[in-house]
Amino acid sequence: MRINRHYGELQDSYLFSTIAHKVAAYQQAHPEAPVIRLGIGDVTRPLCPAVTEALSAAVREMGEKATFRGYGPEQGYDFLREAVREYYGERGIALDLHEIFIRDGAKSDLGNILDLFDTDNTVLVPDPVYPVYVDTNRMAGRQVRYLDASRENGFLPMPEEGVRADLIYLCSPNNPTGAVYSWEQLKAWVEYALEQNAVILFDAAYECFVSEPGLARSIFEVEGAKEVAIEVCSFSKIAGFTGTRCGYTVVPQALAGGKLNKMWLRRQTTKFNGVAYVVQRGAEAVFTDEGMKEIQQNLDYYRANAAVIAAALDEAGVWYCGGKNSPYIWLRCPNEMGSWEFFDWLLEHAHVVGTPGEGFGPCGKGYFRLTAFGDAERTKEAAARIKAALATL
Ligand code: PLP
Repeated sequence: MRINRHYGELQDSYLFSTIAHKVAAYQQAHPEAPVIRLGIGDVTRPLCPAVTEALSAAVREMGEKATFRGYGPEQGYDFLREAVREYYGERGIALDLHEIFIRDGAKSDLGNILDLFDTDNTVLVPDPVYPVYVDTNRMAGRQVRYLDASRENGFLPMPEEGVRADLIYLCSPNNPTGAVYSWEQLKAWVEYALEQNAVILFDAAYECFVSEPGLARSIFEVEGAKEVAIEVCSFSKIAGFTGTRCGYTVVPQALAGGKLNKMWLRRQTTKFNGVAYVVQRGAEAVFTDEGMKEIQQNLDYYRANAAVIAAALDEAGVWYCGGKNSPYIWLRCPNEMGSWEFFDWLLEHAHVVGTPGEGFGPCGKGYFRLTAFGDAERTKEAAARIKAALATL
């Protein structure tokens, strides 16, 4: 027996455990300190009533002989795929039902999709970004090449001349920077992918936060994208499904002459037995008029939190991006502090917990992520404390 040696090449992920240890040690030393956490990227608003009612109704169906369901279609029930198709249709994107695959969330598909690609592929990954892209490729023995993001390029790296690519990850809105590609920028990526005969893996997990005109919510808003892109999306952030688990992936028929769509169906029917019927009924309810109205209230709640944090940073004169079309605010650590140095400083001086930027890749050094997913009152309190603490520097 030989184990997969590539697991030994992974960097240990100390980010959130180190944060937890540091906060626990601080609280032990200062039990009176009212610590507020703006660090984790998990939602806090509960599922909306349209979703919980649909979930309850589906549970009752499962308890009746006449309406009970066993194994469902591996690629998802038509009722949900139809709802996803309409969601795209409203934005002028025509999808075929067979291009939509329902899954238990974006994370698993982002890893599993790599089954379709050779290990020799050259993989481009933005830096900083959601760490799953790098780790899933390394687990499979693939090398990745970073696309450097910086303040200069607005944390939106663009194709570079002379750089080869087979697989290209794009995350927009980006976790952690909150930066969002415009249509023009994505058009340049689509053209580059066509030229390179590459596939773009587009992570649209935060698309629901995009509200400014000219910014893309889906790569398929760009002409020609269906020939080069796979889009991975999720109900986690749009509707608070982080614990309920549901997502979808679009693998267009136009991609690689339909080969990848066929292979993905083969892969799913072999290795996956579908998302729970009950959960898919809950997800379907997200796209009803009622559901959409209710989730907008939750999204507005998070948007208001982001605006509160942004206003505090504006007043403190700290550089940041994100927040407007994303639940994440990405700030430059003041006084040339390192990410961890600022983490400790903020914990001590404002009792606020954030996430050090270097946890998302080397280009995150000297930056820091705050999230808008918290409770509104606590976020206001945290923002006031951050502003007051920064004023003492
Ligand atoms: N993609 C990005 C960019 C994320 O930040 C996250 C979670 O935070 C995910 C995907 C995972 O989403 P899901 O809950 O659907 O697995």
